[in-house]
Amino acid sequence: MNHKIPETMKALVLPSPGEYEIQEIAVPRPQPQEVLCRIRGVAICGSDPELVHGGLAGYWPPSYPFVPGHEWAGEVVSIGPGVTDFQPGDRVAGEAWKGCGTCCNCVEGRYNLCRNYGKPETGMRHYGFRNQGAYAQYNVYSVKSIHKMPEHIRFVEGALVDTAGVAVHGAELTGITPGGTVAVIGPGPIGIMAMRIAKILGASRVIAVGRKGRLEAAGRLVADISVDFEKEDPVAGVKEATDGFGADEVFEASGAEGTLNQAIRMVKPGGRIGLLGVPPESVEEKVPFKYVCRNEITIIGVKANPNASRKVISLIGSGKLEVKDVITHVFPLQEFSKALDTFENRREGAVKVVLEPNGPEI
Ligand SMILES: [Zn+2]
Ligand SMILES: [Zn+2]
Repeated sequence: MNHKIPETMKALVLPSPGEYEIQEIAVPRPQPQEVLCRIRGVAICGSDPELVHGGLAGYWPPSYPFVPGHEWAGEVVSIGPGVTDFQPGDRVAGEAWKGCGTCCNCVEGRYNLCRNYGKPETGMRHYGFRNQGAYAQYNVYSVKSIHKMPEHIRFVEGALVDTAGVAVHGAELTGITPGGTVAVIGPGPIGIMAMRIAKILGASRVIAVGRKGRLEAAGRLVADISVDFEKEDPVAGVKEATDGFGADEVFEASGAEGTLNQAIRMVKPGGRIGLLGVPPESVEEKVPFKYVCRNEITIIGVKANPNASRKVISLIGSGKLEVKDVITHVFPLQEFSKALDTFENRREGAVKVVLEPNGPEI
């Protein structure tokens, strides 16, 4: 591969909280154990709108100007000193997290819980949240945050490796009962991936709990049973579909108020709940303490997608996991504003919206 790297590139820049624009900025250079990647597909994550609108300013991102974006795939175009496992031309999918590598959680492989979060001097990175991200034509990444993908996985599909990885991590934490029933509250991109991963891991039936276009999409793509919470009580709906017993595992993928209690009531006694959705800070639910104890219900928080990318790439590459059918819209980076509006307001049945900063893949 002989790709000439320009001095400057187009990037979506947040100049200050709540503002964004496409700017021409310098192409970064890879440092030791980093590679420069040409971003070919970057998906809008459910966590992006709040960050772009400045709702988390000072934390995500810590300072301005800032380039967000973390669900991406692309190609390596140059390597920094000491890099031996990658070379220009490698097709890769990225993940947002790179732990410090030395704290007790990182040593255990739990780099999503790195104790040096927010301390870049330790080597910790959180691309697109605290370190420059992928809504740009190029970006540098640690070799720890990229994973090779085969030729036949398209870049727009690779942009969903991060999303699907959250579902894989959640399912690994809860376990999936072979032949069991899994209910998923919130059939957005992560919810749909959770249903598919649950089936791959042996669930015989999945129940989607949601409403409107996304519930309809889940029903078309993967769910065996759809429960519309605007038309019926979601707990009763799941109970009815499971002979009154409850689902073996429940994944909460909406982050909405009240859904934790629904999950507790719709999981079977002895069942497990995985919390995949990211609720706003203001959501604080009272938990029926006694009911949870009496029924030995396990509630598991799930954060990001550590150690999942290679598994996801292998599942997509082998044809076991379909991801492209959740991509409803693809835009060039220049049309970020339209892309964000489409995603945020779920226009035209939008599920996953992907940007191509370097044009479509031929
Ligand atoms: Zn994300
Ligand atoms: Zn660490």
